[in-house]
Amino acid sequence: MEKKAELYRGKAKSVYTTDDPTRLVLLFRNDTSAFDGEKVEQLDRKGMVNNKFNHFIMTKLEEAGVPTQMDRLLSDNEALVKKLDMVPVECVVRNVAAGSICRRLGVQEGLDLTPPTFEFFLKNDALHDPMINEYHIRSFGWATDEQVARMKELTFKVNDVLKKLFDDAGLILVDYKLEFGVFNGEVLLGDEFSPDGCRLWDKATRQKLDKDRFRQGLGGVVEAYEEVAHRLGVKLD
Ligand code: ADP
Ligand code: UDP
Repeated sequence: MEKKAELYRGKAKSVYTTDDPTRLVLLFRNDTSAFDGEKVEQLDRKGMVNNKFNHFIMTKLEEAGVPTQMDRLLSDNEALVKKLDMVPVECVVRNVAAGSICRRLGVQEGLDLTPPTFEFFLKNDALHDPMINEYHIRSFGWATDEQVARMKELTFKVNDVLKKLFDDAGLILVDYKLEFGVFNGEVLLGDEFSPDGCRLWDKATRQKLDKDRFRQGLGGVVEAYEEVAHRLGVKLD
């Protein structure tokens, strides 16, 4: 499937229309951004690693009964996906405290969260992705109550599937962000699942193997992503 016009250029991916109005091409670039786009760098191989990582994870999720956008890989940096009507809301589950929850609630990084927490954020860089709740989603019409319930159900299902997948690879799934969209009336998982949008720590050493390496200037960002991919058995070359 050929790319036609660029529909949207995001911070890390570009989205293209295709000959099929129901399908898009997601192009994973090497651009890496943090702090709502304030820090941006090009990291060699990152686009390829995230594209293949995302395809691997979405395939595992589909197998476990989570409906996703994924059709197939098109190339090292491109995937063909269903064109979703995106819900402008980010769904975050946390198994361990890290990042913004530590700043907001003054809790120590590394605190075990049992049961896991769930948070909604509005996808809006200009407003720094503010935290919202279900009433905001309802009042502003970002999604129906039924869609919200489905997004929550699927986000927790993803936790069940991926916590185990990463645990088997010697990794702790600390937290992650998901985006959903609607396709023919059905809520599907969209966007991407990669170390850019989750936190993964080595189980034994608690070494960070995700985008916090970039945020915190720890170096070895793509090497860490490749290490995670290697442990999961994602084929990169
Ligand atoms: P951002 O918009 O945060 O900078 P990206 O660089 O990842 O993020 O850009 C990808 C954009 O494509 C996001 O806005 C995302 O919501 C959107 N998107 C992801 N998957 C799909 C899809 N299947 N259909 C339509 N839009 C999608
Ligand atoms: N996240 C993301 N995109 C965002 C905000 C958060 O992918 O715009 C991910 C982030 O990588 C982490 C989780 O969501 O895995 C929770 O992020 P948090 O609220 O802690 O914000 P952060 O401190 O990472 O900005």
